[in-house]
Amino acid sequence: MKNFNFHQTTEIRFGRGRIQELGQVALKYGTRAMLVTTKATVPSLEQQYQKIIKLLEASGLKVTHFDGVIPNPTLEVISAGAQMARDFNAQVIVGLGGGSSMDAAKAISVEATHAGSAWDYLFYKTPQPDASKLLPVIAVSTTSGTGSQVTQVSVITNTHERDKSALYNNILYPQVSIVDPELMLTVPEFVSATTGFDVFCHAFESTINPGTGAYVDLLAWEAISLVVENLPKVLTDLNDIEAREKMAWADTLAGLCIANAGVTLPHGIGMAIGGMYPHVAHGEALAMVYPEFAEFTWKSAISQFSRVARILNPELKQLPDDKAASESPKEIAGFLKKLKLNKSLREVGMPESEIQKLAAQSMVLPDYKGNPRVASEKEMFEIISHCY
Ligand code: NAD
Repeated sequence: MKNFNFHQTTEIRFGRGRIQELGQVALKYGTRAMLVTTKATVPSLEQQYQKIIKLLEASGLKVTHFDGVIPNPTLEVISAGAQMARDFNAQVIVGLGGGSSMDAAKAISVEATHAGSAWDYLFYKTPQPDASKLLPVIAVSTTSGTGSQVTQVSVITNTHERDKSALYNNILYPQVSIVDPELMLTVPEFVSATTGFDVFCHAFESTINPGTGAYVDLLAWEAISLVVENLPKVLTDLNDIEAREKMAWADTLAGLCIANAGVTLPHGIGMAIGGMYPHVAHGEALAMVYPEFAEFTWKSAISQFSRVARILNPELKQLPDDKAASESPKEIAGFLKKLKLNKSLREVGMPESEIQKLAAQSMVLPDYKGNPRVASEKEMFEIISHCY
């Protein structure tokens, strides 16, 4: 067997109704909690926030609510949240929402307790944040999802530099994550589709990353099968709690995978798309790239691409591995069509004149280097051109 490491420090509380435990969990870390969320754009979210504030207060906590997070959170968002955390003297940060809110909670924990801005502590910079200073973070996921509830990653966007990058450090794992599928029933169709496809991508890219190993493999293939079976069910009936529950589990498994193996080429491009065009949802960006990525890569990872193609279409079991793998771009495109995520970069408003810039930006993060076939600059340009 291949040698591997597996690291995870977050206490996971998974299951329906587990949100009721939030107050007692938060009290372990202090009596002053800051709740970090997006704005309540629909009444159901406002009700959810109020319910959770009441839960915290009922356990004796003083609560302040920072609801300034936006999807693909920016440095300005993090700074406003960090200021509020300092003014309130927060002792624990509760990130409630999708990846944007949970990542914002982690970055706020850094910026509120360190000099400078969160951008100064990106994964490749020194010094890195000091563990003894950080505010503890409780992550409550409401999408399925980014896996952020169980990762050491916080993705933030610098709008001035049109760059999306990450804090990445093992001290950033949330202390506790609460994964309660009942909180996900209100997620609208498009967000369910984009976040659900992100789960698929995390799991699959983990299986082809050199950092993979037996543990990640076990989790990743289970997550992929769960998404293929349950995401279409969620999109058919947004109230299907069993399918939501399976997606929440797949999301958590896939989060554990990326925390230990990492992502590859599509995420590198997806992050660049998010940095340059912040209106594009993360999962939508990945969807635009995936069939082309499969076309570019399948010959270099036949075992994984044949396996994913057969999960998407069990009839391919009759074909030899290389034939099944060659069908993977078509099978992935078919799956995306079912999810209504079959747009091109042109259709989301990217100007054609920026293809070269996007290709260059996709090679800033090291993700593309973890792909079984590493793209040259020319190949990256071609991949992006095809996605256009
Ligand atoms: P999101 O957090 O941006 O949320 C999308 C929208 O859904 C928001 O408007 C939000 O208010 C709404 N929403 C969330 N939960 C809801 C609910 N229960 N009911 C109704 N509406 C709800 O979306 P996301 O895809 O979960 O997160 C994307 C961010 O996470 C990106 O910045 C991405 O780069 C990052 N990310 C982080 C990691 C990590 O490991 N930290 C991994 C992958 C992606």
